[in-house]
Amino acid sequence: MVSMHAMVLDKPGTPLILRERPVPTAGEGELMIEIKACGVCRTDLHVVDGELNLPKLPIVPGHEIVGRIAAIGSSVRGFTIGQRVGVPWLGATCGSCPYCRSGAENLCDTPGFTGYTRDGGYATHAVADARFCFLLGEHSDDAEIAPWLCAGLIGWRSYRMAGDAQALGLYGFGAAAHILAQVARWQGGRVYAFTRKDDTVAQDFARSLGAVWAGGSEELPPEPLDAAIIFAPVGALVPAALKAVKKGGRVVCGGIHMSNIPSFPYALLWEERQVMSVANLTREDAREFLDIAPKAGIHSEITRYALARANEALSDLRDGRLQGAAVLIP
Ligand SMILES: [Zn+2]
Ligand SMILES: [Zn+2]
Repeated sequence: MVSMHAMVLDKPGTPLILRERPVPTAGEGELMIEIKACGVCRTDLHVVDGELNLPKLPIVPGHEIVGRIAAIGSSVRGFTIGQRVGVPWLGATCGSCPYCRSGAENLCDTPGFTGYTRDGGYATHAVADARFCFLLGEHSDDAEIAPWLCAGLIGWRSYRMAGDAQALGLYGFGAAAHILAQVARWQGGRVYAFTRKDDTVAQDFARSLGAVWAGGSEELPPEPLDAAIIFAPVGALVPAALKAVKKGGRVVCGGIHMSNIPSFPYALLWEERQVMSVANLTREDAREFLDIAPKAGIHSEITRYALARANEALSDLRDGRLQGAAVLIP
């Protein structure tokens, strides 16, 4: 038996356990990937902490996979052994529901999600549906581009949903915001970064990536925002962001989970302000972002952890000890 290693969640609320398993085989339409790096996303934390319903259990989390193709299943076209590929959160769609047929596959009625309904990248090997794998080329380090696969892609989708924003607020300056700030700046926008009160380290970090202003999330920016994107899982940021956007401005919630949104006066929403959420991603989002990210010279600030230290990486993310993104290296 050729074996692999994986960090496995048996039950939400318990630590991941390092297990040895047989290397999976690539079924029809699948790629088997030797993993080089896998980013740690806040969604993984929600899965591990039991804040999301019905993950496959036991599950191997992780949906920011960068690896090399080690085997190719039957009927797969367009890939060769050894190519570097990325595997994102959207792992499968039905292709036939009304959402899939109308270009909104991110809302598919029966989707598969990497590291949630299918085993993901906290492992040495994984299989993935080839239609949802992306060639990554050879332009940068495996670990540095791992966060592009979700923080980058979901950030990009959120940014597009925010509309044509010149003055853009980012609430929660973690993995997604630190990538998106660079994209927005590259496109000529002005980024306003909102962090936990008095988190001067995160505020300095935001300014170092081109934010024109950084402050606490309860503060008002020096100019009204065209749009705001909330990445922190904190419902109280919704009314806070509504206060900061101008008439007709949009507040986009970019996370999969958030604490309850407190009630707020209608006056905050009045004048055609909008609140919306972003769910998952489409393959078109991935193609767009993976095309512009190298052109924009996106740099990821990462902290590397050996695969077996996945629990430590999750704790550091949970407790706000990370600058940028955590990446597991098998
Ligand atoms: Zn569908
Ligand atoms: Zn994610």
